[in-house]
Amino acid sequence: MKIAEIFSSLQGEGRNQGKPCHFIRFAGCNLRCRWCDTPVSQSGGREMSLESVLEQIPSTPPYVCITGGEPLLQAGDLEELLIALRSRGIMVDIETNGTRNFTRFQPYASICMDVKCPSSGEESDLSLLESIRPEDSVKFVVSDEADCRYVQCVLQRHAIAGEVFISPVSGVDFRPITDFVRSCDQPVRFQVQLHKIIGVQ
Ligand code: SF4
Repeated sequence: MKIAEIFSSLQGEGRNQGKPCHFIRFAGCNLRCRWCDTPVSQSGGREMSLESVLEQIPSTPPYVCITGGEPLLQAGDLEELLIALRSRGIMVDIETNGTRNFTRFQPYASICMDVKCPSSGEESDLSLLESIRPEDSVKFVVSDEADCRYVQCVLQRHAIAGEVFISPVSGVDFRPITDFVRSCDQPVRFQVQLHKIIGVQ
């Protein structure tokens, strides 16, 4: 499998924010978001065997986040990795950009589906929201009021079973976004990326 990096840190976002976590970042992405904060993962990476990836994952804490890039582009390798991690009793989250069907991976992991907003210049497949379970989550990365209006529109049209996070793009004015979250008639949670505040990867 093509891997951009493997490292240990704190989970910076989502349901497990703040928990110690091992990250496996897959290389390669099918999108080019305007504000992508990991452009290095959009291509390249190094080929690694399943065994060499597993060797780099310490047994504690038993929690791994698989991210990218877009990990679902390497579906076969991803499934083998998930089976190996679960057989070791490791809890797994998968972060995906919402353009690939993830149902095949739900038996092994909690899904965090990113829904791309207009400011990203990209678009997710909103029909995938139907497959989100209570143990999964959805994240909207928003930049401005137009993105907030888009979120409102999506939430009105799609019932989402998992928790919904509203996360501002790094460096934007938080005020219109927090105002939106406070007035939103759907259950959403504002969340800033912890790793950017505390200065760890
Ligand atoms: S989906 Fe993620 S990795 Fe791909 S371009 Fe967008 S932000 Fe970057």
